[in-house]
Amino acid sequence: MIRYADIPALRQAVAEARRAGYRIVLVPTMGCLHEGHAALIRLGATPVAPADAPAWVVVSIFVNPTQFGPHEDFARYPRTLEADCALCAQTGAAAVFAPDAAAMYPPGGSTLVEENHFSQGLCGASRPGHFRGVATVVAKLFNLVQPDEAIFGRKDAQQARVIQQMTRDLDFPVRIRLAPIVRDPDGLAMSSRNRYLTPAQRAQALALSRALFEVAAAWRGGTRDTAALRALALRHLGAGPDIRVEYIAFMAYDSWEPVAAAASGTLCALAVRVGETRLIDNVMLE
Ligand code: AMP
Repeated sequence: MIRYADIPALRQAVAEARRAGYRIVLVPTMGCLHEGHAALIRLGATPVAPADAPAWVVVSIFVNPTQFGPHEDFARYPRTLEADCALCAQTGAAAVFAPDAAAMYPPGGSTLVEENHFSQGLCGASRPGHFRGVATVVAKLFNLVQPDEAIFGRKDAQQARVIQQMTRDLDFPVRIRLAPIVRDPDGLAMSSRNRYLTPAQRAQALALSRALFEVAAAWRGGTRDTAALRALALRHLGAGPDIRVEYIAFMAYDSWEPVAAAASGTLCALAVRVGETRLIDNVMLE
């Protein structure tokens, strides 16, 4: 596995891999990699169709400043590049692309990518400009790597939806694949931000997945009214003294409209602060 910080060197490596007949697969991340990211890399290496060429998986590792608000955790976001590269190598990635901010955003830039429907509400409401930063950096990565495929996690469901739409609207010839949420054995969705949690906060954070699993079970049991499902989730989330609920939303994943009666394809998503740490999780009802 080779690590690139430099854009021309990365482009050359991608071109050589393409000439050698590989399918180019991009896995965009902010580093501090865990099993959730490893699952994306493994999914990328797996062919979609039996005739697919073997994959050349490049993992980008870039803590993207433009997707953080002024009072968010950009400065203290965990940076663990050596361990990340080891995980990428073990998991079968061919390359890591870890540029610095000056390489990604040379001075004088004045273009941003804005998606204006799926980025609204939920995290878009509480993190103004966040999805503009995400869409911009992903568009840049798509242009730099020109992958055949890009892999994103369902953990960040709204982000995935924004990227799907941006890819369609801007005609990127990239197949988007989504990977299921990877959880710790007790249910907590893996996240780089989990390491901010104290042991007591981590115990309280289990309320997120418990609330979502209860919602999914109630839905399977026939409850459709999202007000009732929300009340059920809130009962779980009310238990922790350090928990502050930012939102619990029920959205039709395809149209991104809020729904009053949950149906197959309804996403139940939530954002919660546990102490100072903001966590998100979701479940697709289907
Ligand atoms: P991040 O490094 O947090 O920006 O995440 C990079 C990619 O990994 C995104 O597509 C995330 O949705 C995905 N991801 C992060 N955590 C998980 C998880 N627990 N399960 C599945 N995908 C994840």
